Amino acid sequence: MRNKQTIAREAALSGTGIHSGSQVRLRILPSTAGGIVFHRTDLDGLEFRIEPDKMAARNSTNLIRDGHRILTIEHLLASLYAFDIDCVDIELDGEEIPILDGSARPFVEALEGAGLKKLDSQRETIRIRESFSIEEGDSWIRVTPADSLEISYRIEFDHPAVGVQEMSLEINRETFASGIAPARTFGFLKDVPELRARQLALGGSLDNALVLDEKKLINGPLRFPDEFVRHKILDLVGDLSLLGRPVQGRFTAHRAGHGLHLRTVCHLLDNPPLWTIL
Ligand SMILES: [Zn+2]
Repeated sequence: MRNKQTIAREAALSGTGIHSGSQVRLRILPSTAGGIVFHRTDLDGLEFRIEPDKMAARNSTNLIRDGHRILTIEHLLASLYAFDIDCVDIELDGEEIPILDGSARPFVEALEGAGLKKLDSQRETIRIRESFSIEEGDSWIRVTPADSLEISYRIEFDHPAVGVQEMSLEINRETFASGIAPARTFGFLKDVPELRARQLALGGSLDNALVLDEKKLINGPLRFPDEFVRHKILDLVGDLSLLGRPVQGRFTAHRAGHGLHLRTVCHLLDNPPLWTIL
């Protein structure tokens, strides 16, 4: 068993929320206990803890408390997970984690700059014992035992610039930082009116998302030929971190998204016989 970790020094970032469009300042602070806890400094420090059964996930993964919310936590959470960071306080003065360049690279750089610090307490790991699947239409996630966190993801978009993309890898700090964190979020121009009608994507721009029109990517170049599926893996790592402990298992996702990721997390937490604690 390993020790829990926090960061050695504070890290700060600021920018626009992709859905809310608001400007937000974010501080990530060392913490000795309590896991990952969010605080809205614009609401007298209102505390948000990660409780998957009370969360919402559709176009992003969001915390909700007393009618207030924190949107788009998944890229920051994925970075904390990959760096084996168990405990931090996250302060923000608005309702959304900044989207920055649409990837997790700025968070990775901030965490590298902050450094890591070992804590006295021991860290527990969830190890998958029993296989199961969660399905919804033609989307599914299959979970099977493995000795580390392995992700295999497949997307199928009827769009010439995306098409079918598939990638499998073991998630650790190195594979995440080099192959997953730089992959940016993406969206289709045709979906923008409907998203904006739902008060989403208000802060989306060509600087913080890969944008596709009917035929092509309008703001290339890509950072990877298969950047789209790599970003889906980034989102899944962030959503799996909602389990609250590192996980050993193989997650095979087919045309999935935040909603199905969150259902998989809730199914695991509701069914302890599926896993064991190491
Ligand atoms: Zn994302």
